[in-house]
Order: sequence, then structure tokens, then C-alpha cells
Amino acid sequence: MNHQLAKYENCLDCPNHEVINDPDPHDSFCDDDKAIVCKLLPNNRLDLNSGYLADRNPHKIVAPSIRPYNLRKEGGSPVWCPLKQGPSSEKA
Ligand code: SF4
Repeated sequence: MNHQLAKYENCLDCPNHEVINDPDPHDSFCDDDKAIVCKLLPNNRLDLNSGYLADRNPHKIVAPSIRPYNLRKEGGSPVWCPLKQGPSSEKA
């Protein structure tokens, strides 16, 4: 299958996703939280001063502050997915 044309229901199945650490700076019980980011798009809410690693990641956030066991549940492909909308969506 050509990944350029493939569409994924869940970002975890897509080669363009990355799971990053996203510990909650205010809750030690959630210091193992994760986030899913999309490597095809820049982080349009980039905040290098944020306490959250997802905000400081260069890639667009699909879902932040996820408990590790909920990654697939929270990893549904968003409406702005560039694979769903074609090359012009990279401005989203
Ligand atoms: S948003 Fe689309 S391209 Fe990005 S990781 Fe998810 S499925 Fe892949």
C-alpha cells in the first residue's frame, strides 16, 4: 500500500505519528502521560515556555496528556489529517 495515499482511522497505525512523553507538571500521578503528534505538520500551538512537553514539540499535537493505556482510544485520526485532505491541507 502506498503510504502517501493511505488513510488511517487511528494515528497509531500511521507511520507519520510519534508517541512522546508528556508528563503532567502539576500531578505526579500522571508523570507517565503520553502525547501523540503528527510528524507531517508543524506544531501550530508551539509554546517553548510551556510546562507540557507536547506544547514544546515541533510537531502538531494529535492528542496531549494521555494515560499510557488510553493511547489507542485517544489516537483517532483528526479531521485535519493531511492524508484525508490532500497536499494542500499542510497549512492546517
Ligand atoms: S494525523 Fe494523519 S498523517 Fe498525521 S499521524 Fe495521524 S493519521 Fe498519520
